[in-house]
Amino acid sequence: MLKREKIIIACLLIIILIFSVLIINYSFLSDSGQQHSNGTVRETLANSSDDPGSVEIIRNIGNPDSQVKIAYVVGVHPLEHLTHETLVNLLPNMSNLNYAYDLYIINVTEGVGYYGDGLDNYENPGRQNGQNLAYKYVYPEIVNGDYDLAIDVHSNIGAYDYKTFVFSPVKEGLGVRYADEVANGCENITYYSPDSTTSGPFLTVPLNEHGVPAFYFEEYSFAPQNVKDTHMLELIGAVDNLSF
Ligand SMILES: [Zn+2]
Repeated sequence: MLKREKIIIACLLIIILIFSVLIINYSFLSDSGQQHSNGTVRETLANSSDDPGSVEIIRNIGNPDSQVKIAYVVGVHPLEHLTHETLVNLLPNMSNLNYAYDLYIINVTEGVGYYGDGLDNYENPGRQNGQNLAYKYVYPEIVNGDYDLAIDVHSNIGAYDYKTFVFSPVKEGLGVRYADEVANGCENITYYSPDSTTSGPFLTVPLNEHGVPAFYFEEYSFAPQNVKDTHMLELIGAVDNLSF
């Protein structure tokens, strides 16, 4: 082989190598997060076949330059998904928010069940699966994530004194104060604390105890979608008007 041919082959190999590296890098980058036109990024936090579901996060919602950072969580109890989807559809698309928001989404895939399957919402195995995913993946992210507040979004079948309410599952502290202020700022949301919660120990209680104020938002599971939308917009607006 002539010396010149060897050089040409070497150059071609180098060019192929460079393109391979570029292509691998590009596909790695596009796997790491989905950038949306409004600046939000949706990423997978956990997706293991050992778990009964996956966890995602939508980052950069609202005003990413704000010093105040707030986490919303949906999906702890998978049967309550209509209320969760209401937040996922509304919050990332809102403009002119004061604060920066991250939205954690737990997707339980095992034991979700359905209303009327004989197991009521409280015996449904999907609840414990969601609570475990919350404690394993969402709690450490929020407690170490420099958040000023966390809000865990749920719905109920109407067995409480109120249908649409906020509360913090601890006796006192900033979580209680912020929930109270949110209720004061909303026409249709009351501060009402049920006697006990099943999910508190897996997210909102340890958050409150370890420096991140946290409260629940509860919506009525069977409220019409336009009512769910109205209430969710009230919640989002009141949270965005809190003083930190
Ligand atoms: Zn719930």
